[in-house]
Amino acid sequence: MVMLPVLPLIEGESTVSWCSRLGPFHAGLSGPDFLKLMQISRQSVVDTTDDCIGRLADLTGIAADRIRASGVQRVGEARFKHRDEVFGMRFALRTHTTFCPACLLDDADPSGPSAGRRVGRIGWMFSPVRTCPRHGLVLHRRPNRGFHEQFQDMTLVAPDDAALQKLAGNAPSANTSGLQSYVERRFDGVSGPDWLDTQDVDQATKACEMLGACLVFGAHTNLDTLSLRDWSEAGSAGFEAVRDGVDGLRKALEEISRVSFRQISKGGPQAALGRMYQWLQFKKSKTDPGPIRDVVREFVLDTMPVDPGSTLFGTPVETRRRHSLASLSRSTGVHQATLRRALKLTDVSDVSTHGTDLMFS
Ligand SMILES: [Zn+2]
Repeated sequence: MVMLPVLPLIEGESTVSWCSRLGPFHAGLSGPDFLKLMQISRQSVVDTTDDCIGRLADLTGIAADRIRASGVQRVGEARFKHRDEVFGMRFALRTHTTFCPACLLDDADPSGPSAGRRVGRIGWMFSPVRTCPRHGLVLHRRPNRGFHEQFQDMTLVAPDDAALQKLAGNAPSANTSGLQSYVERRFDGVSGPDWLDTQDVDQATKACEMLGACLVFGAHTNLDTLSLRDWSEAGSAGFEAVRDGVDGLRKALEEISRVSFRQISKGGPQAALGRMYQWLQFKKSKTDPGPIRDVVREFVLDTMPVDPGSTLFGTPVETRRRHSLASLSRSTGVHQATLRRALKLTDVSDVSTHGTDLMFS
């Protein structure tokens, strides 16, 4: 049985939003009441289960693939899928309510595509999507008040129009970050840059954001205090840095270290790379950071003295690539002052400084 007339999904609309519009459109019921009547659980819509898609396709006449492409499927323990991309829960962001207040106010136009009903956009659900390209505003994002808000029906989770007006008026303006645009293109099947494409979309996102946060706000910035707009800026900077792959990434790491050592006179990789180092060295989650780990590890071993036998980013260091005066003094028993004099007399080809520490291969 197909309910007529057909109610199509609006471009960019989430499956949850569309389901929430079916009830008022076909039966004069609220979205949740209509789903209950049809014996479709809200959770099955949130998870875009195959059963739910099949049932909705039969009822609405909309192709199953079209419905699936507008939702986020659960594909395993804390793993999710949208179109051809698989990612973890920090990227899928089911813990938050997100919307553009200006978009929801526009939706209220009775002659608009949703005939006056609010439309939730699927893109709002992904963590690196933080701005509305249409209105040039930072999205409104807040923690959910309970599990039930995973069902992002904008009629239920967003405030009334008067409150939306205030939110829209107070929303900072922002350009869409390069990272956000990349993620949106990737969902549409557009490829490049290569280095990012070789990793999962959430790994690519985190790599850009951590790198960008250290580039823009310094390696020792307090990540917990960065705003959505700050993270958007970080995403752009990180994305620009890794467009050229490993070479661009190493240049960015050099820049981060240089700035750190202007503020902190000496120290090891943690002093140089701050949050970046802590993320990879003391990882609290089991999430694999992806290829950035090996690039940063190589950079550290190439440019800083790291003792053999120590563990760097989960892997033991087998051989030393760089000495500091202190480490060479320790391993040779020769006093540092003597070594410093000897260095001046000897042609050591690769000497560099990190803060006040002299290092060489
Ligand atoms: Zn908007």
